[in-house]
Amino acid sequence: MKILKLKTRFAPSPTGFLHLGNIRTALFNALLAKRNDGCFLLRIEDTDFDRSRPEYIAALLEDLRWLGLNWVEGIGVGGSHQPYLQSERESVYARYYRVLEAMQLVYTCFCTAEELVLSRRAQLAAGRPPRYTGTCARMSSAERQERLNSGLQPTLRFCVPIGQIIEFKDLVRGLQRFCSDDIGDFVIRRADGTPQFLFANAVDDNLMEVTHVLRGEDHLANTPRQLLLLEALGLSAPNYGHLPLIVGTNGEPLSKRLGDLSVRKLRAVGYFSEALLNYLARLGHSYGSDLWMDWNELAAGFSQERLGHAPAHYDEIQLLHWQAEAIRHASIERLWCWMGPKVWELVPTKLAEEFVITVRSNIRFPVDALFWAERLFSTKMIRSAESQDAINTAGHEFFGEALAAYNQNGANYQTLICELQRRTGAKGKNLFMPLRAAFTGETHGPELARILTILHHTETVRCRLLSCI
Ligand code: GLU
Repeated sequence: MKILKLKTRFAPSPTGFLHLGNIRTALFNALLAKRNDGCFLLRIEDTDFDRSRPEYIAALLEDLRWLGLNWVEGIGVGGSHQPYLQSERESVYARYYRVLEAMQLVYTCFCTAEELVLSRRAQLAAGRPPRYTGTCARMSSAERQERLNSGLQPTLRFCVPIGQIIEFKDLVRGLQRFCSDDIGDFVIRRADGTPQFLFANAVDDNLMEVTHVLRGEDHLANTPRQLLLLEALGLSAPNYGHLPLIVGTNGEPLSKRLGDLSVRKLRAVGYFSEALLNYLARLGHSYGSDLWMDWNELAAGFSQERLGHAPAHYDEIQLLHWQAEAIRHASIERLWCWMGPKVWELVPTKLAEEFVITVRSNIRFPVDALFWAERLFSTKMIRSAESQDAINTAGHEFFGEALAAYNQNGANYQTLICELQRRTGAKGKNLFMPLRAAFTGETHGPELARILTILHHTETVRCRLLSCI
């Protein structure tokens, strides 16, 4: 028997931009593969022609690359199971329809969407779980032929066996048990000839030798259907694990906010990919450590035993914490690039490094860096109301003394502070707050000593103090 290497996959449908939920699924599959020295595959499930769009494929490839979730087999990188776009695999699926047809395990179905809706409604009204009632299974072959001749385009339904118990061990949720009688005969090929997700996805996982599938809990009900299909085709099934959905802090599913949480948007506001990864790797999985981890550490500590099945709560504060950690771990050069052109325009290149060091623990996004660049380098002084109050309370004399102390001591912060304290008798907050307000126009912010150094270099200390006199 051929021993298969562990292989996971991410199989998105390109019907929208990737959001936090999708990338958590991609991440867990990538980590599981990496942890086990296995292979991470990317397959595009674009069989729904109406909703799939090429620009979403391009976007998802770019997003995954940006996140560093590098797949070693699949679209764009190749492999021995090409093609990896399901829209190009019609002939593969046709082969398997024929196998099922030969075993009389499928039949054509002419029920219209309206008829199916009415049937569902009637079953629900009668308190029964809705499932296909088998109308077309009972059709005579003459009638079937007549409908085909009249040009009607049927779907293809799989005959679900009666009275079969379907069991599988979910990697996350443990033993799962379903009864085939609760599952109606289901469509595996649409009327337009395209395969249903259930079918193409199960066949491809087998043909592409995928051994482990971590996917959202919303797919749990699909699993018994896919297991029945694979069994009928004589194909082995992967190990499935269903991850809890991500919910907001109020317990509601995140779906409504997913637009805001698309990778594109998070990237555009300036999230670091490592911040997203450190955050998501802990959403439904525990490491037993709150420390920052790089990709290798995230993979080394990943274990399917540590996957939880309680709902995973999205918490922006946590995400911001990991963003701050990412900033703490980033190099000065990287932060400078990340700050962007508006900051580069304001900050003189010779002070770039000093600026980054000064503001790095006070910022989360480039827009915050721009805020401080404007406060420190803009010729037009901007002051918050609180800082104006602090300046007024300190009074003109205070700043006159500050100017004299600066003229005497230059940019030596400690000496300047001692001298100012000696001259004014002010201490603590009464000493630092007005000085900070005069220098930055704010009452909180980066270390004052560093700010003094920067303003000294740009020769703006005097004019800022003078403007308060
Ligand atoms: N194309 C499916 C989706 O995006 C894949 C489901 C699965 O992972 O099996 O939901």
